[in-house]
Amino acid sequence: MKGKVLIVGAGSVGNVVAKKCAMLPNVFKEIMLASRTIEKCERIASEITDRDIATAQVDAYDKAALIALIRDFEPDLLIHVALPYQNLVIMEACLETGTNYLDTANYESEDDPQFRYKEQWEMQDRFADAGIMALLGCGFDPGVTSIYTAYAAKHHFDEMEYLDIVDCNAGDHGHAFATNFNPEINIREITQKGKYFENGDWVYTEPHEIKQLVDYPNIGERMSYLLYHEELESLTKNYPSLKRARFWMTFGEEYLTHLRVLQNVGMTGIEPVTYEGVEIVPLKFLKAVLPDPAGLGTNYEGKTCIGCQVKGKKDGEDRIYFVYNNCDHGEVYKEVGAQAVGYTTGVPAMIGAKMILEGTWSGTGVFNVEDFDPDPFMDDLNVYGLPWKEFHGKQLVED
Ligand code: NDP
Repeated sequence: MKGKVLIVGAGSVGNVVAKKCAMLPNVFKEIMLASRTIEKCERIASEITDRDIATAQVDAYDKAALIALIRDFEPDLLIHVALPYQNLVIMEACLETGTNYLDTANYESEDDPQFRYKEQWEMQDRFADAGIMALLGCGFDPGVTSIYTAYAAKHHFDEMEYLDIVDCNAGDHGHAFATNFNPEINIREITQKGKYFENGDWVYTEPHEIKQLVDYPNIGERMSYLLYHEELESLTKNYPSLKRARFWMTFGEEYLTHLRVLQNVGMTGIEPVTYEGVEIVPLKFLKAVLPDPAGLGTNYEGKTCIGCQVKGKKDGEDRIYFVYNNCDHGEVYKEVGAQAVGYTTGVPAMIGAKMILEGTWSGTGVFNVEDFDPDPFMDDLNVYGLPWKEFHGKQLVED
C-alpha cells in the first residue's frame, strides 16, 4: 500500500483522526480530509502545523462526487467518520473504486433507525470479490470494546458466558445540555428501547428501565442504564458461548431530565413537521441549536471509563475479568483540541487504519474488529493514547 488515506467527516471524531494520522508520517504518508463544510477541514488542517494535509469539499450522499474524489486522490483506504446514514453510499463508492473502507458506527437509515449490521454484512461477497476490506465499527464502542472482548477470549477464558460493556462519562462540560457526539445519532441511540441478549434471544425493555450503580475505576459510583449498543449484535454472533450480553451507559439526572422534556414536547421526533410552510425534522432542528460536540473540549473536565466485564470459565474454574481505559477530557484537549468522546473514537479509527495499511490485519470482505488478532491493536492502544488496565476477581456490574 502507498500509505494514502482519505478521511471523510470533519467533526469531533474527524479532527482526532486527522491529527493522530498526521503524527505518523511513516504510516500515513498522504492524508486528505474531506467533508460537507470545507471550512471545517481547513481549520483542522491549519492546526496540523508540521505537515500538509489536503482538504476537499464533498457531499457523502453523492456517490458520483465521492468516486470522482477517490479517483483523483487514489487512497488505499477511506476512513468514514461522517454520519452512519452515509455508510452504504460510501461503501458503494469504495467498491466501485477498489478502495478499502473503515467506519465507527453501523449503517442507519434516516427514517427507520434499526442499529444493525445487516445491510453492511450483506456486502461481504462484493467486498471479497473486489479484493478489498471493509472494517466495521472501529471506534471505542463499538471498536475497542469488541477488541477487549476478543482479547479476553484469547487470553483469559476457555468459555465466556456473561459480558457487560460499561461506558461512563464522568466529565463536566459546563453546558446545561449537550451531547458528546453527533446529537442526532446520540439522541436516536439513547431514546430507543433497551435490549440485551440472554439465552439465545433478545430481551426488550423500556428506555432506561433497567439501571444499577457501577463503581468505575478512578471515578467512583455512577448510575448506569441498560441500553442497546450495536457491538452486542456482532459479539453474540462471534462468541456463541455467551449466555448474556448487556451494555450500560451512565447519564446524569440533569441530562435525563432535559432529554425527557425534549421528548415530551416532540423535539426528538424524526418525522417531518410543517413549520410556516417549510418541512423540518424536529431532531435535526434540535441538533442545529445544541452545542457542537467538536467545540465542547474547551472547558471539559473529568474522565471517561469504558470497559468490559467478562465472566466465564478458565481451566474448569469460574473467572471474572475487567479490562478498561480511563481518558481525561482536559489532557486530550491539550493534545489535539478534542474532548474524550471524540478522542476515544478517533484514536481507534487511526489504529485500525494503521493495521490495514501495514498489513497487520488483512483479508478481503466485510469484517468486524473482533475477527482479527486483538494483540497488535491492544499494544497500539498503549502507545497512541488509550492505555488500558485489567484486573481479576472483582465484580463491578451485578447480575
Ligand atoms: P459530528 O457531527 O461532530 O461530525 C460529523 C461530520 O460529518 C461533520 O463535520 C459533518 O459536516 C460531516 N458530514 C455530515 N454529513 C455529511 C455529508 N453528507 N457529507 C460529508 N460530510 C458530512 O459527529 P462526530 O464526529 O461526533 O461523529 C462522527 C461519527 O462517529 C458518527 O458516525 C458517530 O456515530 C461515530 N461515533 C462512534 C463512536 C464509537 O465509539 N464507535 C463514538 C462517537 C461517535 P458538517 O460540519 O457540514 O455538518
